[in-house]
Amino acid sequence: MRTLLIAGNWKLNPTTVEAASALAEGVKNGLGAATDVHVAIAPPFVFLTQIDGVLSGSPIGLSGQDMYWENSGAFTGEISGPMLVDVGCTHVILGHSERRHGQGETNAQVNAKLKAALGVKLIPIVCIGETKDERLAEQTEAVLLEQLSGSLAGLSPEEMAGVVLAYEPVWAIGTGLTASPEQAQAAHAYIRGWLTQVFGEATAARVVVQYGGSVKPDNAIELLSCPDIDGALVGGAALKAADFLAIIKAGQ
Ligand code: PEP
Repeated sequence: MRTLLIAGNWKLNPTTVEAASALAEGVKNGLGAATDVHVAIAPPFVFLTQIDGVLSGSPIGLSGQDMYWENSGAFTGEISGPMLVDVGCTHVILGHSERRHGQGETNAQVNAKLKAALGVKLIPIVCIGETKDERLAEQTEAVLLEQLSGSLAGLSPEEMAGVVLAYEPVWAIGTGLTASPEQAQAAHAYIRGWLTQVFGEATAARVVVQYGGSVKPDNAIELLSCPDIDGALVGGAALKAADFLAIIKAGQ
C-alpha cells in the first residue's frame, strides 16, 4: 500500500559542482529507468539546477534540504518553495535535527514551512526524533508527540497523506550508531498510532514514515523490513553512489 522512499541528504557536500554532478550521475546510471521504490536526492541548493539537468529522464526526485515559509521578499539568505519548484525540485526536507538543534528551528517554524511547501506541491519530508539524553530519560514518546503535534498542526487528513515523515533519532545521525530494528519499529509504531488517532486509520495507513540514522548497506535490509518503516533518509552513505544504490536495492 505504501511505496518506500529512499532519500539521500547530501548536507554540505560535496564542495564542487563537478563532484556533485558525478555523484548524481553515478546514482542515475546505477539505478536505471525502473524501480519499485521511490528515490530522491537532496544536494546543496547551489547545485540544484545542475543536478536537475543530470537527472533528466530518470525517476529520481530532487529535494531541497530546507526552505523558508515566505515565497519572496526581504529575507536575506533564504530560499523559497517556488524557487525550489522552479529549479526542478519535487521534495523538500524540513525540520532536520541539524536545523532544529544547530539553528534553533522550532516546531512552529517547521509547521509554517510545511504549509508553504504543500502550497507549492512539494513533497515535504518532515524530520522528528529524540536526542540521546531524551531517550535515556525515557522521554522519546513525549518528544515525538510534541514534534508531531507542533510540526503537523492544522493539516487536513488529505494534506497529511501527502507528507513524508522521517524518524531520525538524533543520537544515531552521523554517529555510526543505529537504532536497532526493534527500537526503530517501536518509534514508528508510536508515530503510526498517533497518526491514526489524529487523522484516522485510512490516512495513517498512507503516510510514508522513513527511518534515518546511520543507515548503511549492511543494516538497511533489517531496518527496511520492519512493518512500519517505509524507507530511509540517508546521510553519510548517500555520498557514495555504490552505497546509496545498495541501500535502494535493500528496499526492493
Ligand atoms: C541524516 O542526515 O538525515 C542522516 C540520517 O545522516 P546519517 O545517515 O549520516 O546518519
